[in-house]
Amino acid sequence: MAANAKPKLALYWAASCGGCEIAVLAIHEKILDVAAAFDIVLWPCVMDFKKKDVEAMADGEIDVCLFNGAIRTDENAEWAHLLRKKSKVMVAYGSCSSEGCIPGLANFKDRQQMMQFIYLDSPSVDNPEGILPQMETQVPEGVLTLPGFWNTVKTLDQVVPVEYYLPGCPPEAEWTLAAVDAILSGNLPPAGSVIGLASTVCDQCTRTRSEKKISRFYRPYEIIPDPDICLLDQGLFCAGIATRAGCGALCPQVNRGCEGCYGPPEGVEDAGARLISGIASVLDADTLEEINAILDTLPDPAGYFYRFGLPHSIMHRVRLEQQNSNKVAAPISLVKD
Ligand code: SF4
Ligand code: SF4
Ligand code: SF4
Repeated sequence: MAANAKPKLALYWAASCGGCEIAVLAIHEKILDVAAAFDIVLWPCVMDFKKKDVEAMADGEIDVCLFNGAIRTDENAEWAHLLRKKSKVMVAYGSCSSEGCIPGLANFKDRQQMMQFIYLDSPSVDNPEGILPQMETQVPEGVLTLPGFWNTVKTLDQVVPVEYYLPGCPPEAEWTLAAVDAILSGNLPPAGSVIGLASTVCDQCTRTRSEKKISRFYRPYEIIPDPDICLLDQGLFCAGIATRAGCGALCPQVNRGCEGCYGPPEGVEDAGARLISGIASVLDADTLEEINAILDTLPDPAGYFYRFGLPHSIMHRVRLEQQNSNKVAAPISLVKD
């Protein structure tokens, strides 16, 4: 980089909802400082950039890439590999990229099951000829192509090496700014770090906690919670006990249990497993029957425990591998593996 050249910044989205793009703008007028400090070389959500322009760059020419979204298709993976090659520092920005998040919930089903339901079995589908998406379709004008659709959703670091993680669905503006400041000052934490706090949401929550003994769970509509007492103490599911701090306990502030979007705290790989063990320790139960009776009051436990971290779940990957090794033949063939 020439002495007075600005650092080059790329922002990209893969399998995402677009919320992380908006989150970048949540730094408000400071976005002007970002625009002044960086040479923004890629930001498809905001400006028209072409892949060939990125391909033409030298390896490592981009100083920092903020990559949001999970990896679901060949196209997502191609961009992840391309940007990894062209970037000195790769940041998994947001929960989809770092944990898999809501797109990752699709991993409860495999590709065949999803295609079967979405294009054939869903009550709102009218598809009498059973037409399924194809990677290539011949039309008079030429061949239309779709990227290969992966069997499971992966996180960015399951596809390419990542230097930093900025969790949250989406990340709070203060951590986006902290990342920008660290990049500009060169005061970066060790590679592999999560940019944020190491403690849990409970540590930022002002509700009064006592020794928990949960005898049943309530849905949010079933009770009006006391605004000062820990939600979990009142039987409302709250993942704050096993979720990284950084949002200021936003959801408990408004009488909602934390759902876990900041991912697990330091040193925990399988967020759901940690949450299961945390919740298990506060159940008022001595026998398996009593545990099951309490869990029966928690609808969709898999969704509660793994809403944001299913692709990183060690337990789930083991199960998927077992299922795949037991498969004799796939019922329908759609797109490549
Ligand atoms: S982390 Fe949340 S806000 Fe960001 S792209 Fe994923 S779903 Fe959207
Ligand atoms: S409400 Fe949730 S975040 Fe707050 S103290 Fe209780 S478990 Fe922790
Ligand atoms: S309280 Fe939990 S779900 Fe809500 S923003 Fe914070 S980490 Fe995310």
